[in-house]
Amino acid sequence: MALVVQKYGGSSVADADSIKRVARRIVETQRAGNQVTVVVSAMGDSTDELMDLAQQVSPDPPGRELDMLLTAGERISMALLAMAISDLGAEARSYTGSQAGLITDRYHGQARIIDVTPGRIQAALAEGAIPIVAGFQGVAQDTKDITTLGRGGSDTTAVALAAALDADVCEIYTDVDGVFSADPRLVPAARQVPYITYEEMLELAAHGAKVLHLRCVEYARRFDVPLRVRSSFTDKPGTLVVHEIEENIAMEQPIISGVSQDLSEAKITVTAVPDLPGEAALVFETLAGIGVNLDMIVQNVSADGSTDITFTLPNADLGAASAALLARQEEIAFGELLQDEGIAKVSLVGAGMRSHPGVSATFFRTLADAGVNVEMISTSEIRISVVTRAEDAAKAVQALHTSFGLNAEGEAVVYAGTGR
Ligand code: ASP
Ligand code: MG
Repeated sequence: MALVVQKYGGSSVADADSIKRVARRIVETQRAGNQVTVVVSAMGDSTDELMDLAQQVSPDPPGRELDMLLTAGERISMALLAMAISDLGAEARSYTGSQAGLITDRYHGQARIIDVTPGRIQAALAEGAIPIVAGFQGVAQDTKDITTLGRGGSDTTAVALAAALDADVCEIYTDVDGVFSADPRLVPAARQVPYITYEEMLELAAHGAKVLHLRCVEYARRFDVPLRVRSSFTDKPGTLVVHEIEENIAMEQPIISGVSQDLSEAKITVTAVPDLPGEAALVFETLAGIGVNLDMIVQNVSADGSTDITFTLPNADLGAASAALLARQEEIAFGELLQDEGIAKVSLVGAGMRSHPGVSATFFRTLADAGVNVEMISTSEIRISVVTRAEDAAKAVQALHTSFGLNAEGEAVVYAGTGR
């Protein structure tokens, strides 16, 4: 008997019929001799709708209340799914994140899981019931307030539960057949990859691929949770995320596993920073002080004893970061602060880059031929990323996908979802 954790995303439980379809899949898994624990997201785009509603009531809602509101979405789907399962003659019991033992820190909207105590889930499983857990939420250890794990966080709930329950596999059900070489909504010729390493998946998730939540992949790698991404609309095996591609299939593995775009970042340049020790430290301490996560950082060579520093950061933090830097403009002694929201980051990821020369040459030639201007560059051992104009991103992704030979014969199927 295997212990399986199944996570169903919003598009898989978007309406009553979908909920009944998912219920059948869950009951079939149990009847095939498995113990099943389920994690659900909110129905369809309902989290976005709750967000919009909050905005209409208040321009800047308190984090505690916003989390309380958003967690209602998952409570709706968990209860409906439990009802549908019960109609099929199996026993299901729904639990909020707090009831399921998902203990987090206190940071509303971006809480981190610090402990999982799934006593009630284990008890339900022992009695032959199917626990249905609301994804994306937990309870803060110190304040006891309800928290959320950040958008897309249900994936992380599923992996955290799978690790705590020592499950045999964590299956992430979505509206496409698995992990693709690019977002099929952007590149219809994207191909589904049967295997991908945690390392490649981390790079893709960190650079705009939305198929898996970044922290879910980090967690799965750390706790060795076998992770499978597949569609709830078909029986296809999907994509297995693994530590290493086994030798017998490694030969056929393409050099590049995927191309992604990220439109969620902005760029700040502080000009004429004195070229002296400690200046960059002042800039980045200021940003760390308000909890801003930076991505790319570039400093130009200095001319006339001063230099420009450019970095990218989440769009949502742009206002706070600019204000914090401007408040210390005199002390840091920089010239001007320039903001740019119109950027995108385009990334190429593949473990094969380590051993294949010429990847950068092809990458930059492709962008040049597509007429895409490169504003910033950053690399890791298995990734090349550039900042471009936002309006050039789709064109860049499509051109790279083609030039690295990733196009499949047919068109990828998107079974549901608005891609919101
Ligand atoms: N419902 C939440 C969201 O839309 C969490 C999730 O779907 O994973 O972000
Ligand atoms: Mg998701």
